[in-house]
Amino acid sequence: MTITENVAEVKRRIAAAAESAGREPSEILLVAASKMNDASRVREAVAAGVDACGENRVQEMLEKNALGAYEGVPLHFIGHLQKNKVKFVVGTAALIHSVDSLALLEQIDRVAAARGLVQDVLLEVNIGAEASKSGFSPDEIPAALAAAGQKHNICVRGLMAIPPICENGEENRQYFERMKQLFIDNCEKKYDNVRMDFMSMGMSGDYETAIACGANIVRVGSAIFGARIYPEKN
Ligand SMILES: *Cc1c(COP(=O)(O)O)cnc(C)c1O
Repeated sequence: MTITENVAEVKRRIAAAAESAGREPSEILLVAASKMNDASRVREAVAAGVDACGENRVQEMLEKNALGAYEGVPLHFIGHLQKNKVKFVVGTAALIHSVDSLALLEQIDRVAAARGLVQDVLLEVNIGAEASKSGFSPDEIPAALAAAGQKHNICVRGLMAIPPICENGEENRQYFERMKQLFIDNCEKKYDNVRMDFMSMGMSGDYETAIACGANIVRVGSAIFGARIYPEKN
């Protein structure tokens, strides 16, 4: 299967999942998680009709961006972001999915203010309460939204989650359901600079389940580009 064929198949499955949930397929944004794929492969995914590209590593994003890999679609940052790299991402990424601390929120606000722009972000939720993962706990989200409401150069557009790795996409339904409830609970509160319109969850193995639970951004890598071959560690 080519990248073009894979994108068509993923889009077909997104549309089917949306329809069976009584939702419009056009509500759901397909982000190609393009880590470890070179500029020409990313361009093929863009040409095939993904809605955005998502990168995990700042250096890799800058290199491929300089080659015009993402031309035609918005660029999203989806990986763990270190504070000292914020300056490379603010204004370059249309949406940062992975804001996992108040310190990071503050740094993004500071850099965006210096550049005179408003950066759209999502708050990452550690929905599986995993020690190995970053993100706010569900309990911390109201305070994080209130803090974001004080900042003028950030707009929180919603929530993002990476649930625990599982064998079968259905196993993550419990986490997606919890995210849906958290999203609903926090939509009711009104803060300045907060517009809760996105819920980013679902990857290659579970995006259909995520859509059934209300996701409107899915981040799909291997189902588009094929399995990633990680270099062997010595
Ligand atoms: C790699 C990655 C994805 C996509 O993973 P696949 O299982 O290959 O679809 C989604 N989100 C994030 C944050 C990622 O790092």
